[in-house]
Amino acid sequence: RQITTDMDSLTREVEKFAENKKLEIETLKVREEYRKEFMGNVAHELKTPLFTVQGYILTLLDGAMKDKSVRKKYLQRASKGVDRLIYIVKDLDMITKLEMGDLVLNKEKFNIIELVQNVFDLLEMKAAKKNITLTFDRKYDNSIFVNADRERIQQVVTNLIVNSVKYGKEGGTTEISIEDLIKNKVIVRITDNGEGIAKEYLTRIFERFFRVDKSGSRKEGGSGLGLSIVKHIIEAHNEKIYVESELGVGSEFSFTLEKSK
Ligand code: ADP
Repeated sequence: RQITTDMDSLTREVEKFAENKKLEIETLKVREEYRKEFMGNVAHELKTPLFTVQGYILTLLDGAMKDKSVRKKYLQRASKGVDRLIYIVKDLDMITKLEMGDLVLNKEKFNIIELVQNVFDLLEMKAAKKNITLTFDRKYDNSIFVNADRERIQQVVTNLIVNSVKYGKEGGTTEISIEDLIKNKVIVRITDNGEGIAKEYLTRIFERFFRVDKSGSRKEGGSGLGLSIVKHIIEAHNEKIYVESELGVGSEFSFTLEKSK
């Protein structure tokens, strides 16, 4: 009788061990798939700007160097390509840190109205190039203090406004507003009347490297990482990000922050 009981418990132990090993292997497989996919995406993103830069350098070496004006033009274009590479590598570095949970938030008390106004001032010219009017609805011209990582939130606001311009219509508008909600929260909204996003893609736009129109957004520049960085940053703050959009009508991105006492 004793022997049977011992055998039963041994069998259970062995089964448990095997089950755990199976789960471990599954996790490793998922990670390996993820790693492969990530590396593939990275290589793909870097390829285009690298070939562009190499193209200009080879043309210069091939004789274009002799003409002073051509030389300058090609060097400027190559430099633009390098800028794009730096931009992509920075985004990759950021997403890796965020996904590994390596990002330490530096929370501090700051005025969110002032931060949004600063980003607004920096991007107004960029928007004007596409005839897009930026408006900042400052219902409260006094200040609203929040408790968050200022630099990261600046990146969130920048990415969302840049997107509203990138995917905005010529002559369109982007409205930014901040609402002081009850229950110690603030909500920042960025609303555009641009191309909008089809329903089936709405849940996917926060995935890294996901783009609705592969060629279109590449033309506009970007890494396909902007929104996943935004989502990670907001979630690291234990806050929420929302999107509402209608194809051909426009999009509204909004996120919450914690008010500071
Ligand atoms: P990127 O802009 O570099 O392609 P993002 O992660 O910032 O990458 O955005 C992912 C995709 O979501 C974009 O390629 C675009 O298709 C869509 N998208 C983002 N913001 C907007 C917007 N304001 N209006 C319409 N589409 C948008």
